[in-house]
Amino acid sequence: MTTTWAPVPAGSGFGVENLPYGVFRPVDGAARVGVRIGDHVLDLAAALGDPVFATPSLNGLLARGRTEWSRVRAEIVALLTDPARETDGAAALHPLTEVTLHLPFEVADYVDFYASEHHATNLGRMFRPDSAALLPNWKHLPVGYHGRAGTVVPSGTPVVRPAGQRKAPSDDAPVFGPSGRLDIETELGFVVGAPTTLGSSIGTGDFAEHVFGVCVVNDWSARDIQAWEYVPLGPFLGKSFATSISPWIVPLEALEAARVVVPTQDPVPLPHLREIEKWGLDIVFEVELNGVQISRPPYAQMYWSPAQMLAHMTSNGASLRTGDLFASGTVSGPERDQRGSLIELTWNGTEPLRLADGSERTFLSDGDVVTISATAPGPNGTRIDLGEVTGRIAPTPS
Ligand code: CA
Repeated sequence: MTTTWAPVPAGSGFGVENLPYGVFRPVDGAARVGVRIGDHVLDLAAALGDPVFATPSLNGLLARGRTEWSRVRAEIVALLTDPARETDGAAALHPLTEVTLHLPFEVADYVDFYASEHHATNLGRMFRPDSAALLPNWKHLPVGYHGRAGTVVPSGTPVVRPAGQRKAPSDDAPVFGPSGRLDIETELGFVVGAPTTLGSSIGTGDFAEHVFGVCVVNDWSARDIQAWEYVPLGPFLGKSFATSISPWIVPLEALEAARVVVPTQDPVPLPHLREIEKWGLDIVFEVELNGVQISRPPYAQMYWSPAQMLAHMTSNGASLRTGDLFASGTVSGPERDQRGSLIELTWNGTEPLRLADGSERTFLSDGDVVTISATAPGPNGTRIDLGEVTGRIAPTPS
């Protein structure tokens, strides 16, 4: 573990190896950019004197690109590891208990993929039991859709149960009302920094030039609304009411020790989706419902890598904007306790979960709290903590 003068509790996943970025507001000032070290946040505007950090968004830093991201990170590491700079640096530290955390960046466009073979297979088996679990395109391209950027909210934002139209196959006609099948989706989000021009595309090898870092995503999903509306154009109101993200963006550089090869892809993808430098990531999530752990989805088993997702989403010449967010799709592993959504954990509501208080859940009840956290291996036996994304379900307004 690299030594720092800053206070880092033993076993913390927020050591000098991590240094995730966020936007915080101290009790006596405006919201601005900081990095987390231990249980403190370092005020970067105060510590480094660069006005790009005196804004309530990471977008200014994101737009600068990879060379500058690396330079800034090295500057922060130098500050935190030089004993001679403790006095100045410590003056820029705020305890997390004394700050409010905000949405870390202005979300430009938001895309959501469907990259877990286990998740796609589980849903295919539930919804199309009489045909192949995976649709014919699934192993040729990372399937995705465009979501609603304006309803991406920071961790802690209450999630109001959406009302919508639904119709079960056995119903004669649709009805409108509060969703009865409100669900979670455990996902990893990728934050785009460096933009591109319209008409250009990005190869799989240029992933790290454009993607700044990652966050934890909960793609709240109303399964009954989704099931009635999604044919033929895909998810719409069953997803767009809220997508929660964690407050800390972990830079790709903190995840070097977590890189693994993605599972073998058969058939071999078309040339524009082939990858030399693999971007599998050994990140493990923990999902808690009302304080009880219900799943531990492993990211390492995802079929499509984020570099392939990025190459695919720009392969038609669509441009990237600073602040674009693309999410992986629900992360599910092969085991029952590795499934990243309630619809899989309860097998479409037929196998309820039993919670610590003796109650059962198929989908979410009003007042339920879901918290998703994630960790990854860091350099030299350390641990990188991605933090958590949490949300409480609020009732549909009457
Ligand atoms: Ca999703």
